[in-house]
Amino acid sequence: RQPVDSPLYALLSAASDYYRNALKNHPQRHTAVSYLKDRGVSGVIARDFALGFAPPGWDHLSKHLSGDSMQQKALIDAGLVVENADSKRRYDRFRDRIMFPIHDTRGRIIGFGGRVLGDDKPKYLNSPETAVFHKGQELYGLYEARKYNRQLNEIIVVEGYMDVIALAQQGLRNAVATLGTATSEEHIKRLFRVVPNILFCFDGDNAGRKAAWRALESTLSNLKDGYQARFLFVPDGEDPDSLIRSEGLEAFQARINQHSVALTEYFFTHLAEEINLDSLEGKAHLATLATPLIERIPGANLRALMRQKLTQLTGLTSAPNDNFTPEHSNTTSHDWAPEYN
Ligand code: ATP
Ligand code: MN
Ligand code: MN
Ligand code: MN
Repeated sequence: RQPVDSPLYALLSAASDYYRNALKNHPQRHTAVSYLKDRGVSGVIARDFALGFAPPGWDHLSKHLSGDSMQQKALIDAGLVVENADSKRRYDRFRDRIMFPIHDTRGRIIGFGGRVLGDDKPKYLNSPETAVFHKGQELYGLYEARKYNRQLNEIIVVEGYMDVIALAQQGLRNAVATLGTATSEEHIKRLFRVVPNILFCFDGDNAGRKAAWRALESTLSNLKDGYQARFLFVPDGEDPDSLIRSEGLEAFQARINQHSVALTEYFFTHLAEEINLDSLEGKAHLATLATPLIERIPGANLRALMRQKLTQLTGLTSAPNDNFTPEHSNTTSHDWAPEYN
């Protein structure tokens, strides 16, 4: 639970005002403005996502928000100012970056992401964990998506800030991003509180494919009957931002309609990828991998259908605990455990 009246909210909101204003008026704003233009971001989207600019320099923000020493301390607590452990010198965390404010679902700013304008490292810098910012739970763009449309039916989960922005730019105002972390069960719980359908669309690279399977695992335990997840795998080297900008909205939507796969389909194709299902050994292996995962599904109908599908693929009948021996399972039944202690 977040403290309702944390003094950090006012400070974070004032910082966002500063960054937004700097994108409009700061003498050094031009590189930031042309960066956004080059990436196809319009004024409307910049406004709707409250994009900003942290100018180059060590103390623009702290000077702007400076007050007494209490305020200085609060800036550090908010993650906006960093204090060097040795020298005790203080400086703005975000410098010469495009700023993406991160809102909680009530619309309060809880942190920022900042992207460098060139190829410097790190490419993205996020706020640190603070009293109000918990990276593993928050979803960038969820507040904006709900503000835009209260009747959402599906949410698209992508990896990056710019993927959310690019989809919104093309008219898909229902994308959210995890903040550089894996999709957690908490993320999925939050999403299924808002919509019954999730579409995962990660980058076409190894990290993206790993992220997809991880998202599937986090989704399983939240799959009550009536809730669904699908996956769209984008071509190698692309991400949702680059893809929708190169092929346009209609082709992207057609791609979703024609090429997205249901979670249940991805489940079996991924698990069976390196298994020879013509052999009994292969069938046994698949059952060993699939059964504990299927048993996590809370929706009784879907769980039964998944067991049935596994039976089709392996020939094994669907008695849930006959399919694998305890020492190979990762269920948490401990009836047999003492033998192994
Ligand atoms: P861009 O299109 O702006 O170059 P991207 O969003 O496609 O960036 P990826 O490398 O695909 O960048 O990373 C996806 C997401 O992971 C980013 O949007 C960001 O949230 C997070 N991320 C990437 N690099 C870092 C980093 N160095 N530190 C923290 N988070 C990062
Ligand atoms: Mn990537
Ligand atoms: Mn990417
Ligand atoms: Mn990208």
